[in-house]
Amino acid sequence: MSEPSYQPETLAIHAGTARSQFGEHSEAMFLTSSFVFENAAQAAARFIGEQPGNIYSRFTNPTVTMFEERLAAMEGAEQCVATASGMSAILACCMGLLKAGDHVVASQSIFGATVNLFNNIIKKFGVETTFVSATDVAEWQAAVRPNTRLFFLETPSNPLTEISDIAAIAAVAKKSGALLAVDNCFCTPILQRPLQLGADIVIHSATKYIDGQGRVLGGAVLGSKKNMEGVYGFLRTAGPTMSPFNAWVFLKSMETLKIRMDAHSANALALATWLSAQPNVARVLYPGLPSHPQHKLAMKQQKTGGGIVSFEVKGGKEAAWRVIDNTKLLSITANLGDTKTTITHPASTTHARITPEARAAAGITDGLIRIAVGLEAVVDIQNDLRGLNS
Ligand SMILES: *Cc1c(COP(=O)(O)O)cnc(C)c1O
Repeated sequence: MSEPSYQPETLAIHAGTARSQFGEHSEAMFLTSSFVFENAAQAAARFIGEQPGNIYSRFTNPTVTMFEERLAAMEGAEQCVATASGMSAILACCMGLLKAGDHVVASQSIFGATVNLFNNIIKKFGVETTFVSATDVAEWQAAVRPNTRLFFLETPSNPLTEISDIAAIAAVAKKSGALLAVDNCFCTPILQRPLQLGADIVIHSATKYIDGQGRVLGGAVLGSKKNMEGVYGFLRTAGPTMSPFNAWVFLKSMETLKIRMDAHSANALALATWLSAQPNVARVLYPGLPSHPQHKLAMKQQKTGGGIVSFEVKGGKEAAWRVIDNTKLLSITANLGDTKTTITHPASTTHARITPEARAAAGITDGLIRIAVGLEAVVDIQNDLRGLNS
């Protein structure tokens, strides 16, 4: 068991007990779909849960268990359930905790596929979702119905970096008999630990910063043993479990998560500060800047501003596309949380399917650019934004 007194970066390197008999120092990868029993009686005891142990990798796998124990220790959670992707983590959370007739209150500033999941998939099974402001706590309170079971948010939000007050929204959830789930993908437990702020569930897309090098997909749901029972039950039966290979990649990545998050944050702060001084930049959105409308709240619940910087160029879409098209180093891709800096135009990509009016209301203007700041030298990232001054 991990010692609760250790810091998250220490747990990221040491937590987890799933070791083999060989005494390996670096975590082993168990590429096996099933496990062998000594005899029929042992098989029977494993299947009915009388004897702990592995049966089949859709149920448990030692490498995946090691990942789950490590992330649970870092988030301060009783249990972690690893999934094939971030989206399957959110699906497993819904399938495990909700039933037909339940109601969800969700931030309107969440990942596009998550909006889709609530609006088009979960809805088919009789669960309705009301979307509210990420920042106005009163809207959460006002949206509560007698059948509200789940609150769902993401902070900082994408791409506007709005900050939701986790403690305040958790208090409303508690009072309403609902569970609060926080998608902690942008911060990771190194920068923000939602359970310590009163949330009940933490969701991760490990695909982003936890891998950190853009290689594999994975996700996780974390919370109390009681809340994870149905989530794990869904996963074991339905099957979107994490591959042991991916779990091994994540384990190795987690050991450097702290130094990567610190470096992403330092680069992002330097870039945001530089962007703020550029004449063709209308505004910069970065929680680590004192000019951010929720800077104080961000610095209370996060250790740093994180790695995502959004900014608006003067001249609308044409100017934004010019900046993007003049880059040579930056990757034009919607992915984030990579050592490689990525640049994207939300209005014409991730948010293209929303009506222009709804986009404008949400603040996703045509001049908005989002940068997921990587680990290159900041001066090289700045120079690659040459289109700003052309
Ligand atoms: C990418 C992402 C997801 C989905 O994760 P996948 O691993 O791509 O399924 C969910 N939430 C946030 C905030 C994300 O950025």
